[in-house]
Amino acid sequence: MGVIDSYADYLPVTENTPKLSLGEGGTPLVRSSFIGPQLGIPDLYFKLEGCNPTGSFKDRGMVLAVAKAIENGYGKILCASTGNTSAAAAAYAASAGIESVVLVPRGDVSQGKLSQAIAYGAKVIVIDGRFDTALSIAREMVDTFNMCLVNSVNPYRLEGQKTASFEIVDEIGLSPDELFIPVGNAGNITAYWKGFKEYDEKKQKGVPRMMGFEAAGAAPIVLGRTVESPDTIASAIRIGNPASWVSAEQARDESNGLIDTVTDEQIIESWKKLARSEGIFCEPASAASLAGLLKLANNGTDFSGHRVVCVITGNGLKDPSFAAENAESKPLNVAANIDSVAAALGI
Ligand SMILES: *Cc1c(COP(=O)(O)O)cnc(C)c1O
Repeated sequence: MGVIDSYADYLPVTENTPKLSLGEGGTPLVRSSFIGPQLGIPDLYFKLEGCNPTGSFKDRGMVLAVAKAIENGYGKILCASTGNTSAAAAAYAASAGIESVVLVPRGDVSQGKLSQAIAYGAKVIVIDGRFDTALSIAREMVDTFNMCLVNSVNPYRLEGQKTASFEIVDEIGLSPDELFIPVGNAGNITAYWKGFKEYDEKKQKGVPRMMGFEAAGAAPIVLGRTVESPDTIASAIRIGNPASWVSAEQARDESNGLIDTVTDEQIIESWKKLARSEGIFCEPASAASLAGLLKLANNGTDFSGHRVVCVITGNGLKDPSFAAENAESKPLNVAANIDSVAAALGI
């Protein structure tokens, strides 16, 4: 199906918009097995955006951005990316038969993401600088050259991404009370809020409080100033000057929500918990949503009886070296016989 087909009535599409799809959207909303019951929140859910075709929520917006680029006559798209945007851009460009160019900051992009962009056939340009610099170069490029910018400053990206809110409301039957979400460039929190508001106007199912979390070393919105050298293990939210800063603050204020920080230690702890107690393997940035919930719950905020959703933004396979370095259990190397295997298991 895909988001264009499923939600055409809610999207800025016309009869001239190509119906692109790689089957994005329709991702699972999974009820927590252990963490929710332990916190006294039986209605804790995880929205598994890592189940999208390229492994992150970026696909929801990219399908629409690429379709509109084609409708508007572009033969080439461009983005700056910490990884997932480039993977999505490259995939949808390939499926639409147009060219993609991606600018990535040197050393800041995980191997899994970079290998996707390369495999899908994007022109990958590694910039000797940070993401924020790559984005300003991309913005300048499209002023001069005939390419469509598909970063989240492209309004169609957020239009596509808002469809995740529709799915959550449809699946639960009501809006959640709180939505926890990682914040990097702040496009996704903006898109979800837009989606919840639009759906509430049509269906009167309510809206949640938007609970956004930046990494402590990359927290421009919380600090109220740009961060020159953002620093966190969560590369997808390693952003010092968010493109959707103002609209994220609006989402926070209109929803009576908050934007706060979580430390790398809290992110890693939640990342482990998701894998080991829920069977959900995500990339580090994605665990910032649960880390935020745990931070508030540990500080005494009472969520009992609430419907709570944590958005799990990307797939763990994006960043396999992070898993190898941070997982608690390591592979055991033994000789190839049953005694050695049993000995290694202590049985
Ligand atoms: C892009 C991304 C984010 C951050 O989303 P923003 O819209 O930039 O705030 C978080 N997690 C993952 C996995 C991402 O790819």
